[in-house]
Amino acid sequence: MKNVLLPNHWFYNAGVIGLLSVLEKGGLNIYDAIDDYGAVHLDIFSSKDEIFDSWDELTKSALNISYKGKSGGTQKYYYSNQTEKSIKEKIQLFIKGVTKSRKPSAFTCGICGRVELTTKSKAAFFNQAYSNILLASEQTFPNLYWGLSSNDFVCSNCDFVLFCHHLGLIPTQQGGLRSQLFINAPSFKTMFLLNKLAKELIGSEKNQDIKDKRQLLAMTVIEYTNRINSTLALWSTMNIEIVNKLQIWNKEKRTVEDKIEFLSIPFDVVKLISDRKIASLLSDIGEFRVLNMVLNREYPKLIDFGYRLMRESLSEKPNEKLINDSLFIWKNKQYGNVGNTANKILKLYGLIEEKLNKEKLL
Ligand SMILES: [Zn+2]
Repeated sequence: MKNVLLPNHWFYNAGVIGLLSVLEKGGLNIYDAIDDYGAVHLDIFSSKDEIFDSWDELTKSALNISYKGKSGGTQKYYYSNQTEKSIKEKIQLFIKGVTKSRKPSAFTCGICGRVELTTKSKAAFFNQAYSNILLASEQTFPNLYWGLSSNDFVCSNCDFVLFCHHLGLIPTQQGGLRSQLFINAPSFKTMFLLNKLAKELIGSEKNQDIKDKRQLLAMTVIEYTNRINSTLALWSTMNIEIVNKLQIWNKEKRTVEDKIEFLSIPFDVVKLISDRKIASLLSDIGEFRVLNMVLNREYPKLIDFGYRLMRESLSEKPNEKLINDSLFIWKNKQYGNVGNTANKILKLYGLIEEKLNKEKLL
């Protein structure tokens, strides 16, 4: 059976990205599986046992837990009360679809909207099984999960996908507490590539302390534009957002709580930073201050900043403190380089203005 997966809610999308990494271990070529419109087409040849082994191996390295050989005792696991058998059943249903039941009822999937004929005892419902950590707080944060309630039915096509969502999330550290993020977009191709790049950016030493997730999202788009040999399809950049699942310390209750925040960059800014010349200049300059001016659409500030630096570079007695406080990267503020940095910032402003003017004419 061929499975066609379309972009949906972020939780499901993270599941699809996770699923692709499971199937990649079994030989799937991810690039062949995603079409130009951002949908995933899967012809699955691996057996449920092979898929389970890949899933379990990846789960072990992501969460440090394994369901292999487990027939109980998993109440506290990420996916509560699951066993090797129950997960293999989900995989089997994903590959083959539901078998006919004697007296079936029609259930509508709360995720994809598909109607499936099955019985109540066989049906899967959205509950803690899908993530102990997130859904445990249903009482305190009813909307933590986008309004799906634990009574919602999940069809055989979506069930195993949701069981892969933890493999789509990228682990990060935030003030010593664990957090995870996912870049959500309207195309799986865009999501696959952006999340891959974000993972690399987070993993690199020099980016360890990016606290602002919006900056990380912008840097990922810039990296994409600079490195991937095709431009982001415009429609697929319209709703790029970063989903940040973080833990916060509740002082009053003295407990750690889960929180989910959504951060995005306005579409007109995404268009700017996915312009090849602008992206390459932004990453060449590499200063967060400059990136923030662009993200906040404070373009005239770029001219002020550029001219101020230019003046200092030409002065006989440059104001070292001002230069030091406004630039962070060593090569940018090194003696003799400040003028060059100023030039790049002014050039960046020029490119942005040119692009904005062109858009106005269209
Ligand atoms: Zn479904």
